[in-house]
Amino acid sequence: TKWVYGFGDGRAEGEQGMRNLLGGKGANLAEMSNIGLPVPPGFTITTEVCTHYYAHDRHYPPELAGEVEAALAAVGRITGKRFGDPANPLLVSVRSGARASMPGMMDTVLNLGLNDATVAAVAAASGDERFAWDSYRRFITMYSDVVLEVDHAHFEEILEDFKEHKGYVLDTDLTAADWKGLVAKYKTLVQEELGKPFPQDPHEQLWGAIGAVFSSWMNARAITYRSLQQIPESWGTAVNVQAMVFGNRGESSATGVAFTRNPSTGENALYGEFLINAQGEDVVAGIRTPQPITETARIAGGMPAPSMEKAMPQAFAEFKRITHVLEQHYRDMQDIEFTVEAGKLWMLQTRSGKRTGKASLRIAVEMANEGVITRAEAVARVDPAGLDQLLHPTLDPKAARQEIARGLPASPGAASGEIVFTSEEAEAVKSAGRPVILVRQETSPEDIKGMLAAAGILTRLGGMTSHAAVVARGWGKPCVSGAGSIRVDAAAGVLHAGGKAWRRGDIITLDGSTGQVLAGKVAMQQPELSGEFATLMEWADGLRRMKVRTNAETPSDARQARQFGAEGIGLCRTEHMFFEEGRIVAMREMILADDEKGRRAALAKLLPMQRADFRQLFEIMSGLPVTIRLLDPPLHEFLPHTDEEVAEVAAAMGASEAKLKARALELSEFNPMLGFRGCRLAIAYPEIAEMQARAIFEAAVEAARSTGKPVTPEVMVPLVATKAELDLVKARIVAMAEAVTRESGVALSYQVGTMIELPRAALRAGEIAATAEFFSFGTNDLTQTTIGISRDDAAAFLGTYVQKGIFAVDPFVSIDQEGVGELVKLAAERGRAARAGLKLGICGEHGGDPASIAFCESAGLDYVSCSPFRVPIARLAAAQAAL
Ligand code: PEP
Ligand code: MG
Repeated sequence: TKWVYGFGDGRAEGEQGMRNLLGGKGANLAEMSNIGLPVPPGFTITTEVCTHYYAHDRHYPPELAGEVEAALAAVGRITGKRFGDPANPLLVSVRSGARASMPGMMDTVLNLGLNDATVAAVAAASGDERFAWDSYRRFITMYSDVVLEVDHAHFEEILEDFKEHKGYVLDTDLTAADWKGLVAKYKTLVQEELGKPFPQDPHEQLWGAIGAVFSSWMNARAITYRSLQQIPESWGTAVNVQAMVFGNRGESSATGVAFTRNPSTGENALYGEFLINAQGEDVVAGIRTPQPITETARIAGGMPAPSMEKAMPQAFAEFKRITHVLEQHYRDMQDIEFTVEAGKLWMLQTRSGKRTGKASLRIAVEMANEGVITRAEAVARVDPAGLDQLLHPTLDPKAARQEIARGLPASPGAASGEIVFTSEEAEAVKSAGRPVILVRQETSPEDIKGMLAAAGILTRLGGMTSHAAVVARGWGKPCVSGAGSIRVDAAAGVLHAGGKAWRRGDIITLDGSTGQVLAGKVAMQQPELSGEFATLMEWADGLRRMKVRTNAETPSDARQARQFGAEGIGLCRTEHMFFEEGRIVAMREMILADDEKGRRAALAKLLPMQRADFRQLFEIMSGLPVTIRLLDPPLHEFLPHTDEEVAEVAAAMGASEAKLKARALELSEFNPMLGFRGCRLAIAYPEIAEMQARAIFEAAVEAARSTGKPVTPEVMVPLVATKAELDLVKARIVAMAEAVTRESGVALSYQVGTMIELPRAALRAGEIAATAEFFSFGTNDLTQTTIGISRDDAAAFLGTYVQKGIFAVDPFVSIDQEGVGELVKLAAERGRAARAGLKLGICGEHGGDPASIAFCESAGLDYVSCSPFRVPIARLAAAQAAL
């Protein structure tokens, strides 16, 4: 085995593709050497040495020492120096470099090889005594900190005391003699702390640093980071040893970091900072304020000190040329570290730069337009989840945040407003022109008006598929649900959060993308849907196989979804259509009626409303498919709770309040989610399904007339477990279609299908498909019933489950591919075997989740359906899944 790979002088033993062996940094240093960029010569000790080290009780492979010596000698030949030579010393940097960048590991030791003898040689060779001693003190500090584990703060203290004693303000005020004096003090400190002197032998120093890098692979922070990021321990880290170049050699030297394009906006403009007469850590340490690299950025930032472009025009021109070479070579935006030593530019690192969602979009589209990457590559590069940030107003990333609580990121986007506790307050304050945040223990259909009026919704209870979350996502309103640490005292008008009592009218901000609840008003940014966004979406549409529909029941949702590119409605939850003013009473009348006659009376009131609703949806969708689901009310969501509500329904029905209360009590369930819902309602009270079918078909006739386009409604039966249920309900629907055809004289085209949202239905999909003309997977209920966890109560423990790694992610957010997914695949196969061409879709919340969408592609579904604001995400994710 070869353990050490050299690079420098326009050559390298490694290359870009050897990331696993050389780590990210090592592979890219080799690559930059290979393409002739100015990289200080050096070598990489491979990740296999790290693996060997841990497999052999922290011993190195026996050949390693020899290979390191040979590599050091090669570096010496290129630089004309020798490691450890007191007269002409080679100094090196030592850096870690895993496959993926890993915070928490030993980072960097600079100026290694300095000691009491070599410091004098450096001073003589450079003609700059101050530079030599400044470098030595930096080395002692860094090495003591990361290798010898003497706390950095001790050195800082000594330096600060000294500056105070001398009346100095800046480090640059210190003279050569000052640094020399400090070096002596530093060495004494190390002797006192460790009981032995600071190592003078350069080889001892080097092996100390190499050992520290390998040891840091197993430190607590690195282990934690790896487990969070699912980076296997077996990967190991590499060590990079490289000839030093000095940014601290006076005014013609500098060090800096840069992005080839702006990482927050994506603008194609060099973006970065540098410091004259400084070494790497000064830029990050924040002791001095770095200066912008370009003159444009300097002017935009109103910075007084000169830019690199002005201060070092030659080095800047060379740097600019190289950033272009790097971008063309790596075909991506790069994050670069560099040093200028006495006017000469050196490249120390390059890697793909991290960026915001917005920047990622712009960079991908512009690079494709520049011909650097293909359109398919551009589509593949944008993280669909990042689009979320773009579709909603978001918090200004530069604004300060004071977190007072944290819940689930139930619906993305951000909103600030006055705290209110009831729907009435929400409407009153909103109509006075002030935004409100509705704060509730949990939400139910009575809160719908308040939710509509609110700019954002905060609840203490409820998960990602709770009522508040589903409704808020549908509307694209920010929502934080399940914020367990808050206390909501609606009666007193107080929200207890973050150790403080917030009163009605106090302002808070929600970040629905992170689940954060923040004090006061935080500055926002508005979304931008044209330009690169529209372009990338168009490219994505050309690449995907699956259709993307939306879950929508209101005209405004349906319109919004079409704007976002929805290709029809995959789920219209008809029970949500009764939340509106005036309707909930009729709905309650219907539910509470104690005989068919009473029910029919209430249904007669609901029919025209439903017909008008459906007609509008058909018209907005103008010939696109629309799936309408028969009523699936978890009954408890609709029962009147307060005396006032009971009185209201009683008046409407002409019944006594006492009788109604008794009826409501009779209907209340222990476990409503497994209770009297879904098709069970249509089985027990067929007249309800009949009313809805009539409304659908009559609306279809009307809409076909008004739009001149054929309307083919897809009538969907929810919560079916057996073929017999579907047979019964379908017979009623078919009979109603025939009746409407007779009455209207218009031949109807329609389909009857079912939700697959119970394990039994998935297992019996073969026989169910004999009746169903399409399946739509209701993965919310299918997850709930397959895993046996209540979608309304899971928030209390799911967090712990995810933390403990029992679930990698919340199965209500991203489909449990192994369990629930197996049922989906099995049902798809059995269904299609029984009925060729059976249309398959998904309409659970997973229909908007990129990982779940990739799963749907693999299961061969025809479409996904999701809330309007997730439509663009689904379009992109479906394209990526098809690539
Ligand atoms: C589902 O269960 O996945 C579904 C879409 O129906 P609902 O969320 O309305 O129960
Ligand atoms: Mg369901």
